[in-house]
Amino acid sequence: MSINVMKFGGTSVANISRIRNIVKIIEEKIYSTGEKIVLVVSAMSGVTNKLVLEYKKLNTNISTPEYDVILSTGEQHSSALISTMLNEKKISSRSILGWQIPIITDNNHSQARILSINSKLIKSYFKKYKVLVVAGFQGVSHENRITTLGRGGSDTSAVAIAYSLGLKSCEIYSDVDGIFTSDPRVVKNANKIDSITYEEILELASLGSKVLHPRSVELAMKYGIKIHVRSSFKRKLGTMVVKEENKIEKEVVTGITSSENEAKITLKGIPDKPGIAAEIFGALARANINVDMIVQNITDDGKFASLTFTVPIDDQNKAVKELRKSKIKFKKIHSNDNICKISIVGVGMKSNVGVAQKMFETLAKKNINIQVISTSEIKISVLIDLPKKKMALNALHIAYGLKK
Ligand code: ASP
Ligand code: MG
Repeated sequence: MSINVMKFGGTSVANISRIRNIVKIIEEKIYSTGEKIVLVVSAMSGVTNKLVLEYKKLNTNISTPEYDVILSTGEQHSSALISTMLNEKKISSRSILGWQIPIITDNNHSQARILSINSKLIKSYFKKYKVLVVAGFQGVSHENRITTLGRGGSDTSAVAIAYSLGLKSCEIYSDVDGIFTSDPRVVKNANKIDSITYEEILELASLGSKVLHPRSVELAMKYGIKIHVRSSFKRKLGTMVVKEENKIEKEVVTGITSSENEAKITLKGIPDKPGIAAEIFGALARANINVDMIVQNITDDGKFASLTFTVPIDDQNKAVKELRKSKIKFKKIHSNDNICKISIVGVGMKSNVGVAQKMFETLAKKNINIQVISTSEIKISVLIDLPKKKMALNALHIAYGLKK
């Protein structure tokens, strides 16, 4: 028996006419391949957000079993709608919820992790049905409570189910054609990428391009499952997320992203002595504030240093407050959120020199000042003024030959 896992996101099931479109895709698939289909589904777009708001009016703590019971209903609803419409078209189908399979998770409510999936049950249902419509994003704990996997988690449901069935790939359908070299709304010549590695997509995801739930990529990477990210509105191939060895084109830079979710904080006139950085970042860590990029300068006389770093924009005020009320000595503190982080990502960086140089040169030519730099093996990020974002993205897109 050949099985295919196909996951459809919220916008693909947003209304009845879009669900009709999915039914068509399924019909074509069954007709052309004869495969049995596990159709993993998200809630209709906007539904989960509404449920969160409703719950939060009563309780701001979301790590509770009841939060998960409420949130999981979005997928219960959409899975039944799809199954109803498939059956109407004489495609035998049933909906199935996380606890019915079961998909066992830990009891970390609102952020649960999958422990096991009873794939035998899924297979046994294929004696009776052509399509199983699985409610994504949910499972059940050993305490017999419904759990959810974290926002965007139905991608993870799909990859985990594919793995449990022994499959080598799965398809994730959404309203975008695939993964792009840059944001097409900002960079006019952005192109769809044919293949991208797990590592690259993880870097891009952490930079704010919300294409896939990061945990789904981690899981796919661990078990070598290819993810085909594609559009439910077009019949064209999308982007394959694969192992580095399987990547077709090995450009130095695969994608360029930007993030406006950080604020920059500068501390001036801090004594230049051992332990001071530990004190500053310790204070922030205790306040649960994540620091990302860091740069330190020493004054000419070597007595004082200034330290600049970035924090999530939502933590900007909290960070300043924490530092002011701490015992850390500094002369001035200054924060600014009119900035953005631009990052270039590519596995080809590992084996090419001059990649950073080209980035700095390109920005210099456009008279764009780089305020902070950070790097990893496959990523270089720079902090620049927000108004220069579009210019920077477009110039870098050309410089790295991403324009077709
Ligand atoms: N419906 C859930 C959410 O909006 C899960 C998902 O869409 O993947 O986060
Ligand atoms: Mg999603």
